Amino acid sequence: MKAIRRFTVRPLLPEPLRPLSDLSRNLRWSWHAETRDLFQSVDPERWALCDGDPVRLLGSVRPARLAELAEDRRFLRRLAAAADDLHDYRTGDRWYQEQPASAGLPAAIAYFSPEFGVTAALPQYSGGLGILAGDHLKAASDLGVPLIGVGLLYRHGYFRQTLSREGWQQEHYPVLDPNELPVTLLREDDGAPARVSLALPGGKRLHARVWLAQVGRVPLLMLDSDVEENDLGERGVTDRLYGGGSEHRLLQEMLLGIGGVRAVRTYCRLTGHARPEVFHTNEGHAGFLGLERIAELADEGLDFDAALEAVRAGTVFTTHTPVPAGIDRFDRALVARHFGPDAELPRMDVDRILRLGMETYPGGEPNLFNMAVMGLRLAQRANGVSLLHGHVSREMFSGLWPGFDPDEVPITSVTNGVHAPTWVAPEVLRLGARQIGAERAEDALSVGGSERWDAVADIPDQDIWELRRDLREQLVVEVRERLRASWRQRGAGTAELGWIDGVLDPDVLTIGFARRVPSYKRLTLMLRDRDRLKDLLLHPERPIQIVVAGKAHPADDGGKRLVQELVRFTDDPRVRHRIVFLPDYGMAMAQKLYPGCDIWLNNPLRPLEACGTSGMKAALNGCLNLSVLDGWWDEWFQPDFGWAIPTADGAGTDPDHRDDVEAAALYDLLEQRITPRFYERGQAGLPDRWIEMVRRTLGLLGPKVLAGRMVREYVERLYTPAAHAHRTMAPDTARELARWKQQVRASWHAVRVDHVETSVATTTAELGTALALRVRVGLGDLTPDDVEVQAVSGRVDEEDRITDASTVPLKPTGGPDLEGRWVYEGPLSLDRTGPFGYTVRILPSHRLLASGAELGLVEVPSEEAAEGAGVLLR
Ligand SMILES: *Cc1c(COP(=O)(O)O)cnc(C)c1O
Repeated sequence: MKAIRRFTVRPLLPEPLRPLSDLSRNLRWSWHAETRDLFQSVDPERWALCDGDPVRLLGSVRPARLAELAEDRRFLRRLAAAADDLHDYRTGDRWYQEQPASAGLPAAIAYFSPEFGVTAALPQYSGGLGILAGDHLKAASDLGVPLIGVGLLYRHGYFRQTLSREGWQQEHYPVLDPNELPVTLLREDDGAPARVSLALPGGKRLHARVWLAQVGRVPLLMLDSDVEENDLGERGVTDRLYGGGSEHRLLQEMLLGIGGVRAVRTYCRLTGHARPEVFHTNEGHAGFLGLERIAELADEGLDFDAALEAVRAGTVFTTHTPVPAGIDRFDRALVARHFGPDAELPRMDVDRILRLGMETYPGGEPNLFNMAVMGLRLAQRANGVSLLHGHVSREMFSGLWPGFDPDEVPITSVTNGVHAPTWVAPEVLRLGARQIGAERAEDALSVGGSERWDAVADIPDQDIWELRRDLREQLVVEVRERLRASWRQRGAGTAELGWIDGVLDPDVLTIGFARRVPSYKRLTLMLRDRDRLKDLLLHPERPIQIVVAGKAHPADDGGKRLVQELVRFTDDPRVRHRIVFLPDYGMAMAQKLYPGCDIWLNNPLRPLEACGTSGMKAALNGCLNLSVLDGWWDEWFQPDFGWAIPTADGAGTDPDHRDDVEAAALYDLLEQRITPRFYERGQAGLPDRWIEMVRRTLGLLGPKVLAGRMVREYVERLYTPAAHAHRTMAPDTARELARWKQQVRASWHAVRVDHVETSVATTTAELGTALALRVRVGLGDLTPDDVEVQAVSGRVDEEDRITDASTVPLKPTGGPDLEGRWVYEGPLSLDRTGPFGYTVRILPSHRLLASGAELGLVEVPSEEAAEGAGVLLR
């Protein structure tokens, strides 16, 4: 019989056990092994049945057992210690509190993301973006950064994956009851649930309540539209992560951005938390937050342009993908319908909103509203997520800053990191702790500081190798369990599954490959030459074994075909003991997988992997990387840390040929370099050179890949400058800047370089010579206060493009003449040998701009004007 209504009946904890409730609701347990050990000892069997989820454990443990524990002095002592520890963690000074007041750090930062992967017990993520967001919150908590996370609570989260008998991906959407999740409802002072609501076209409203997940010191607010005041359609707005059609997505993103700001305001009002000075949007999905803040300022009397300046000053936008399909683009008409007098933000000019998302560059679609483009326009500071991705993003979005070289596009990069206490296996941590002391090991992981990591160099070979084997063996056990469950699910009987006991071998070189399955990640590259792969798997002395996992997006049949192709290969009785596909990749599996592998494989189409983080998590466990030089690996690869798969990514390479070339390179590396090194034995019977690579990966790469390093960079390079800009931008200042920008835009047509001349007009010159440069410019209505005239010089390529430009501002020395022209002068030093060139240009200049390219305006000499410049080539 089916129940018509379900409830969650909570246990009443005996008074002495009350602290367990707080401990279960602060997700710090997810990265704090001692707290988890405490919960495990409540009821080890149930702990396993509940997949290590304290809330579920407490909801199901027998009252008799609770009564017993309430009398158990040893348990109560441990409980008190854990509760004290959490209290100290939440209230003590950490890195952020130790920064000098003069640094002017932000009072608070709101961090918006469509998904958060904090723990498997709160499944609100699909992949890397969400897990990065979870790691960002945890690292912020460890560092004491006053962050407020903002997201949605999806009733079904992302889907769970199983396989059909034929290896076709099946999706399941289990219902998540918030009452069974580690979240609490945000309530008004009178106990009523706090509400935010949005106006919808046609006079309807979208209501949401706000759940609060406590991530150490950091609150995470999650909006949930499944409330009774909503109509059925609106209740479903937060049903699934990345599901549904375009309008559904738009409503989710409006709720996240606009509703999210309202939720932050409510949270600060109710708790007294400092109001955020900086708003950070993790990818473009939450971009509407900027509109809500413009509307707030409009209520305080600022016009749109001034409010835009004020909002931009305190906004940081992180772009995460160079893949166009990864960027949200909505039909303009759809967006138009959801804003304006009959919908949300009624007093805001809809046309102004639409212009923010317009693709105003060659090849842009006039009828689409682009969330990344809006993100860039609403944020004064933007970044990609690795050095290479920063470069790719500047190229990709350079159309928004016409006239500027991609290098000057104001998008920087902060390379991602991973939260070590979450991702480092307890066994690895214990070895580190034995070497340098428990407290220092914990510090080294969360806060960084490379001197602590030096101690890794002293860990004996034997210990490292035993650890590696131990982790590999645990993985073998885990794989067999998961594989057996998957085959049962696929319809196999126990009698058919005896072979699973022989799957994988704890002494064979183990390779992991697990990630989402968009085509650019090339799940099936390893199958390119099946015979070669079989030879590697079945090699008589130096075999390899491979564990593969990954979910295809439910709407991506191409991805599902790749999964099926791989599953079918792994089903083959000749190889199935050496290669497995595990369904339902997620955080719980990932935490076992990375430590147990010797090699982490990554073969995306370069440069489409913006950063990638799974390889970082693997590295922190002493697993070596084997990867295309993309994302973070392009930045930090060293032969000591693993291997680079050579790429054939030159222009015009046919994709099929490219796959062939890169797959062959992969097989070659495995056959000739990797397997020999793993299986060779030195004097003590150990693979010395392999162990040395593990040691260097742990000790030298480890400290770089930490989320603590990443969050510190965000604080120092983006949040703090944004907070300063925000404070400077008082209403009058914002009005002044907006007026100035309007005036500059209106007058720019009259700005030009009239004439350029130098003291020498030859085609050769000697190193160290300084030329006197004299430039006449027309500024129209503008004055030298509004612009900077620069000399730009450097080495030039065959097409006379300046490749390594350095810029020097010139000084106004005379003017204006009767025609409004000014003379600028300055030295130009020939500081490089070889082909050298220069030009001059005029940029808008104002003390409140974060970059000279900010307005996308620049004026360079016409050919006529350049005539007197002398040609300084060759
Ligand atoms: C780290 C992680 C990812 C991201 O991996 P990539 O390297 O970005 O492909 C995806 N899913 C899970 C479960 C992870 O833990």
